[in-house]
Amino acid sequence: MMLSNYLTGHWITGDGEEQQLVNAFNGDYITSISTRGLDFESILEYGRKVGNPALRKMTFQQRGNMLKALAFYLLEKKEKFYKLSTQTGATRADSWVDIEGGIGNLFSNASLRRKLPDESFALDGESISLSKGGTFSGQHILVPKEGVAVHINAFNFPVWGMLEKIAVNLLAGMPAIVKPASVTCYLTQMVVQEIIASGILPKGALQLICGSTGDLLDHVQSQDVITFTGSAVTGLKLKSLPNILANNVPFTTEADSLNCIVLGNDVEPGSADWEIFTKEVRKEMTAKAGQKCTAIRRIFVPASKMDAVKESISKSLSQTTIGNPENEAVRMGSLAGQSQRTEVKNQVSKLLASSQIIYGSLDSVQLLDADAVRGAFISPLLLMNDNPFTTEEPHNVEAFGPVSTLMPYKNMDDAIELSRKGKGSLCSTIVTGDKLIAKEYVLAAATHHGRILVLNQSCAKESTGHGSPLPMLVHGGPGRAGGGEEMGGLRGIKHYMQRVAIQGSPTMLTAITNVYQPGGEGNKSDVHLFKKYFEEIKPGDQLVTDERLITSEDINRFAELSGDHFYAHIATTDFENTMFDKQVAHGYFLISAAAGLFVDSYEKNPVLLNYGVEEFRFTKPVYPGTSIHIKFTCKEKISQDTRSDTPAETGIDIPKGIVKWYVEILDDTKELAGVGTILTMVAKKNI
Ligand code: NDP
Repeated sequence: MMLSNYLTGHWITGDGEEQQLVNAFNGDYITSISTRGLDFESILEYGRKVGNPALRKMTFQQRGNMLKALAFYLLEKKEKFYKLSTQTGATRADSWVDIEGGIGNLFSNASLRRKLPDESFALDGESISLSKGGTFSGQHILVPKEGVAVHINAFNFPVWGMLEKIAVNLLAGMPAIVKPASVTCYLTQMVVQEIIASGILPKGALQLICGSTGDLLDHVQSQDVITFTGSAVTGLKLKSLPNILANNVPFTTEADSLNCIVLGNDVEPGSADWEIFTKEVRKEMTAKAGQKCTAIRRIFVPASKMDAVKESISKSLSQTTIGNPENEAVRMGSLAGQSQRTEVKNQVSKLLASSQIIYGSLDSVQLLDADAVRGAFISPLLLMNDNPFTTEEPHNVEAFGPVSTLMPYKNMDDAIELSRKGKGSLCSTIVTGDKLIAKEYVLAAATHHGRILVLNQSCAKESTGHGSPLPMLVHGGPGRAGGGEEMGGLRGIKHYMQRVAIQGSPTMLTAITNVYQPGGEGNKSDVHLFKKYFEEIKPGDQLVTDERLITSEDINRFAELSGDHFYAHIATTDFENTMFDKQVAHGYFLISAAAGLFVDSYEKNPVLLNYGVEEFRFTKPVYPGTSIHIKFTCKEKISQDTRSDTPAETGIDIPKGIVKWYVEILDDTKELAGVGTILTMVAKKNI
């Protein structure tokens, strides 16, 4: 019973048996793993030579759609994953976070394609003018790195840990080698089996190592990226490897951190926020049996409320049913294995140098439908430390299980100081309804936490909770938490892409980026741009309109029509001490007049609708008597998906895209009076 690795396009087993894997809650043998005898250098080369070229030539739209297809595919198979997941000690609720949370990451990253071009590369920020004459400018772009993303993951989330990471590198255009933690890698392996069987990813996009990585890290190169989730000790050891240092291989660490929750002094026993606080602590201590990198390890409470808090949390913990995760009545399963239990007990004994247990026991636990000896069970342990400023253990020692320490604070400064004593964490929560308390805490504690949740009754019902990293928010933290950052929406893909600043003439940069750069040459055409289909329009296509005289009567009529009688638009205003010399045209009138100049025809044309305005600035007042004309240039095109289940004939699902237009309003001295980007929805020709 050897678990195979998926490498160089094949399912391969290593020589011999290096490790046996067992069921976390009953100790039964599951399978064995080995990577002995594998050629790790060729595994990396395969990713670089086969997976990388296939992914990097795809556009973001194609990669995003690939992730979406994969998410739907895995969702179909989820019950299979849930079934196996119990063997890791996880309850159904724990597995939901791991399995559907992981698949959710695929969906979220798939949706990010809408913010990215239909290209294999992306622009990073706006064009930067570098010369007075406008002939020299700069633009940052991001291109996929040419290597492989190597993900070394923790044991606690065998599915999410893989999917949250590969979703991002695949969207960026890089392949991955995933090395899950050995103890729970059989679940990751099952998901990889399904991914490979789906045929959705290109060859070489994903490889899996179940077991030791051998000499893999001695062969990584500067175009590769390593992410590590696990203990700070291993993280430090790996990122200090000579090959990694010598080649400046990007290395992101996410390590154990001592996350905290603060109870605001405004929260009174028995109040709704008090219940929310108690529930959040219980949830974070018991979910995944406390084996979460984001779990609450330190609880800071106003000294005067400590007795009431002890009572509330202890009562809440006593209502948690512990035992066989396959039993539906169970709310907390086991740790991932016996060695994790030994490790947790060791860490708790270190904490006990300065704290005492006020709820739970190190030696016994009441179980439902399970064996306390064969299964890696442990009781939730609530500790009390009365001297958080003079003892270091609660701020240094992490017991990676259902263990948390209560500590008193006197005032907000103390609470902030205590939260910082963790030397950097992934997340912190403050429960308060008081805006001043919240602001003071968030701004002062922000330097030491990757994410801060301000929790109270106004958001608790819909809150995703203290412990949930979200694909659209950054996950990571300073200092002890590893100093890394992952996910965070578009921020995440940047770890897998090389940012390069390109310089040249705006016309040249337009040709390279396929996004019109201000000042670039426009392409004139005999056909009006509104008569062109999506495929026929090119970035840089430009229309220069006729002139229109702006009169005082126009401005008066616009004021009447819109109801905008701001004093600057009224001819009779005394303009002394104002920004203007006389009656000035409304900015919105100028946009409308611009539309009157660039919009074409009473007949139907490929333009389906006005999609919106992205930004607009008015740069010079336009007074009556001024003639304006418009430079209307295609800036960028974004293709839109078609819902294949809706026939095009219905008119609802016309194949189409969004065209962004760079609109310059010029006055009769050819100076810019306004500039902006407007969007139209344009039909495709293959309608
Ligand atoms: P480790 O640091 O031991 O392992 C993390 C990952 O690194 C595993 O995949 C492990 O593989 C791998 N690894 C270990 N040594 C090497 C090596 N020499 N070369 C390559 N890969 C290596 O952490 P654990 O998973 O055992 O967890 C220990 C502690 O880490 C926990 O108690 C907790 O404090 C912290 N942790 C933090 C998490 C976070 O998200 N921040 C999540 C989970 C744990 P293998 O399993 O094969 O040894």
